[in-house]
Amino acid sequence: MLPAGEHDVRATVAIAVSAVSFIASLPLRPWLGYAPAMARRSFLQWPVVRQLSTGDLLGRGPAVTSPQTRAITPRTATADRVVQSVCPYCAVGCGQRVYVKDEKVVQIEGDPDSPISRGRLCPKGSASEQLVNSPGRQTGVLYRAPRSTEWQHLDLATAIEMVADRFVDTRRRTWQQEDEKGRLLRRTMGIASLGGATLDNEENYLIKKLFTAAGAVQIENQARI
Ligand code: SF4
Repeated sequence: MLPAGEHDVRATVAIAVSAVSFIASLPLRPWLGYAPAMARRSFLQWPVVRQLSTGDLLGRGPAVTSPQTRAITPRTATADRVVQSVCPYCAVGCGQRVYVKDEKVVQIEGDPDSPISRGRLCPKGSASEQLVNSPGRQTGVLYRAPRSTEWQHLDLATAIEMVADRFVDTRRRTWQQEDEKGRLLRRTMGIASLGGATLDNEENYLIKKLFTAAGAVQIENQARI
């Protein structure tokens, strides 16, 4: 004769064992999210063993690198040469490394040797490669005549001649020798210069010198605005 309540305990245990046996017999592994191959891993593949065997004690290097990651090669690894340059976008002037393969730019990254940016680039500078290789990039001179709706292609020498002609003509037409009280001015208000942020010191020096010598007084740079 079993003590009171023991029947219930035995019945409950029997039911539980039967249920576990039944569930274990089901092909549940795919549903539970792990593949049979993972279940067959030897203990040599345990993370802690990999950390100890590779010397990667913090688990941030080879111990946690997947075979897929190990098989990947960076675009920069196959470059023929690397050229140091400066980001073309803004006045910060971050240093860049330009990777060239078959005479084509394949990647642009931050230059760790730059004292300004020390290898960093903002998202815009990081996308410089897309600027260089964009199919929409203009590489020639386009000219739209006054009141025209069409652009025309010009060679660089012709365009520079046109700019020079207009510069000289504008200076001549707008020259102010003196004001209404006879005070000496010797200037033109018909010419102004607005520099871009990627102009370097030497370029800005020459621009300032040229325009001041020509009598222009409105000389600015976008980086200061
Ligand atoms: S990377 Fe960004 S912050 Fe640096 S120069 Fe280029 S645009 Fe300016």
